[in-house]
Amino acid sequence: MAVRVRYPPSPTGFQHIGSVRTALYNYLYSRGQGGTFVLRIEDTDRKRFVPEALQDIYDTFAWLGFHWDEGPDKGGAKGPYLQSERLAIYTSYVDELLARGQAYRCYCTAERLEGLRKEQESAGAANPSAQGYDRHCRWLPESERQEQESAGTPSVIRLAIPLEGSTSFVDMLLGEITVENKSISPDPVLIKSDGFPTYHMANVVDDHLMEITHIMRGQEWLPSVPMHVILYHALGWSPPAYCHLPMVMGKDGHKLSKRLGSTSIRDFRAQGYLPDALLNCIAMVGWSYDGSRELFTLKELEELFDIGKLNKAPGVFDYQKLDWFNGMYIRAKSREELADLIAPFMKEAGLPSDDRSMLQGIAGLVQERVKTLSEVPGMVRFIFEEPLAPTRDDLLPRKSDPEKTVDALRRLQALLPELGGSPVASEARLRALAEQLGMKLGDLLMPLRVAVTGSKVSPPLVESILVMGVDEARRRAARAIAILEQR
Ligand code: GLU
Ligand code: ZN
Repeated sequence: MAVRVRYPPSPTGFQHIGSVRTALYNYLYSRGQGGTFVLRIEDTDRKRFVPEALQDIYDTFAWLGFHWDEGPDKGGAKGPYLQSERLAIYTSYVDELLARGQAYRCYCTAERLEGLRKEQESAGAANPSAQGYDRHCRWLPESERQEQESAGTPSVIRLAIPLEGSTSFVDMLLGEITVENKSISPDPVLIKSDGFPTYHMANVVDDHLMEITHIMRGQEWLPSVPMHVILYHALGWSPPAYCHLPMVMGKDGHKLSKRLGSTSIRDFRAQGYLPDALLNCIAMVGWSYDGSRELFTLKELEELFDIGKLNKAPGVFDYQKLDWFNGMYIRAKSREELADLIAPFMKEAGLPSDDRSMLQGIAGLVQERVKTLSEVPGMVRFIFEEPLAPTRDDLLPRKSDPEKTVDALRRLQALLPELGGSPVASEARLRALAEQLGMKLGDLLMPLRVAVTGSKVSPPLVESILVMGVDEARRRAARAIAILEQR
């Protein structure tokens, strides 16, 4: 049987680490098995619908390089499926359930349900099994039902959960699970009063019609499964295989979604994480290959991912680990690739971003140094904006006197136009000068570094000067000399 999996986000909030992990595992599983990956937008909750969240799903997929395999024809483009475009389908199945008495109309007002809730609350723990809807309308006499209909009373449609017996299913990670039907929350709503299906109804119908073979999703959905299984059976269908993934925790042991600070994919993107680094890091939350190897491209993951290697314990998402992954991926890029990645961050920071060779020069300066792309503008701003004038103290290395420093700066200034070509050749020229002056190379360069970059720590000096232009560097050296010569 060909594998068919789905990722069915609700556009109610932005994509985050947990949701992308689910999408990723489904995607990888479909690729590895030569199966089909379906994206289905579960947008039937009109009250919680957020248009930006819908766009965020598409943006996240595009950025991460996922693509779905099928869907209705959308003027040339295929899919994804949108549940809001499939309403008639859900109603037709609910009509069958109504006809067979497996679902029923409930006319209870919001006030009645609220009163019921309050009553149950004050009765409290005395009778914990008497929670939820009291099935009032399940036993409504036909005459009363018709009265409500002719009065045009708004209604919802509820699933009639069997009163006796139990429901079982097998989870690929958790094994067989059985619950008493008595303990299932009484009679969930399938169709709301606005005519839209609930998550339960639309999800089950679509998983069946889309011939989904495996449902892989977070463990927070586990409590809904018994009721879904009952719904499958009521419709005469058999449920797909289930695989509920352990929670994603922060390193502090709290659920990631509850953590302060951001876990949304768009924020990681804005902070300068690379999609391949983020995906690699997310893949390792809850799955491992051999317990030691950690770096995998998406292509490699597609081949190697295996449900049998999923962890049963909660996964930990570690922000420091992500920095490590990101650094590794930044180092592995070519200059050209890194230049492309850096450009939007330069632009965002108001720095030049159009000159390709300049961007490649910048890439070379920062490639070994940054953990995220958002650090780049701060690190290279000095190239484009002259730093504040250094003080005498900044310019004078320990044990060095002003005359000697001025002399060294003059000689460096004279040498600058001859630098360039290979960094090795440039360094050899500078070493020769340091030797001639009886200085260590680092000491020789420190005043020039401060003069040019405004700081004692900077990206490689000679390369920085070459990106900036020798004339500008000489001008800054002249400014430093003037400061040192002031009495
Ligand atoms: N729409 C649900 C969500 O937002 C889908 C859960 C499921 O996979 O069944 O995650
Ligand atoms: Zn009712």
